[in-house]
Amino acid sequence: MQMYSEADVDTACLADCQITVLGYGSQGRAHALNLVDSGFDVVVGLRSSGASWAKAKADGLNVKEPNEAVKGAAIVVFLTPDMVQKELYASVVDDIDKGATLLFAHGFAIHYKQVQPRADLNVALIAPKGPGGLVRRQYKEGRGVPCLVAVHQDATGDALKIALAYAAGIGGARAGVIATTFAEETETDLFGEQAVLCGGVTEMIVAGFETLVEAGYQPEVAYYEVMHELKLIVDLLHEGGLKKMHKFISDTAAWGDMTSGPLVIDATSRAAMKDILKNIQDGTFARNWIAESDAGMPNFKRSMQADLDHPIEKVGADLRARMDWLDD
Ligand code: NAD
Ligand code: MG
Repeated sequence: MQMYSEADVDTACLADCQITVLGYGSQGRAHALNLVDSGFDVVVGLRSSGASWAKAKADGLNVKEPNEAVKGAAIVVFLTPDMVQKELYASVVDDIDKGATLLFAHGFAIHYKQVQPRADLNVALIAPKGPGGLVRRQYKEGRGVPCLVAVHQDATGDALKIALAYAAGIGGARAGVIATTFAEETETDLFGEQAVLCGGVTEMIVAGFETLVEAGYQPEVAYYEVMHELKLIVDLLHEGGLKKMHKFISDTAAWGDMTSGPLVIDATSRAAMKDILKNIQDGTFARNWIAESDAGMPNFKRSMQADLDHPIEKVGADLRARMDWLDD
């Protein structure tokens, strides 16, 4: 593993350079504000009709329409939703300077060839391993969220140097920047969110809730056991891995974990994980998601509504209304 730290970074290559951040959502806002605080010249590119425009203005940033924003930029960062990047690139490419660097926070658009950049441009990835809110908060505290770095196209010979300087600008180099490839970042990121973090975990929570409620237990008690308490466990795992979790849970819980866990995640579940990974690797997942997006996301909206209409959501909202600490 190759890891870069602040000592490996020379931000001088970005002195007097304009950095244009396209998009002002979770990542865009954090990157733009951190870069300004690091002393860089930042322009935010947004549609004046969009909701983020007023927000970026209110934060005191220099905001322009994407076409105007990319003019003169040494770095153009794509921080819009992945499904928008193809069209956005096509609409600004003629205004991007020769030899500029395109940066991404996730490799989807490049890896699945949604964006096929001009040969004179550098193409690199700085992917923070955390949501935008954390990227901003850690920076303000003098710390940083670890990042991944990859170079897809090195037109000028200093794409890596520029990407690392950018990582320093958003605070990531303080925590360490691990070298990867667009393929590895894209495929592992998609697999993680599908099989484990989002898809796997929520499906397990809902199945556990339904199992308890169908067996006649109170929904409120079921909610506490399978949804609410997940945070306590995730915090322990996040802070200290399996070791810390085992240190803080009871021996009874640990014994149940070790004997019952493999029954839930059994050979069938592991085979499903391998299928999910194969569909990511061979492009099937990307193809289907792009087609869904192009069709106006009918299945996406239907599945999302089904999630939101699930009884666990009603029970949860009522119980969470009594948790004063959630207001902060
Ligand atoms: P987001 O949905 O929070 O924000 C998207 C922004 O793009 C909004 O400001 C929106 O107004 C703007 N936008 C949409 N269409 C646009 C257009 N045509 N022109 C200009 N602006 C447009 O997005 P996000 O979650 O910050 O994701 C941005 C990128 O960062 C994605 O590639 C994502 O995969 C990656 N990423 C996200 C996270 C995360 O925690 N959210 C973590 C790592 C990487
Ligand atoms: Mg789900």
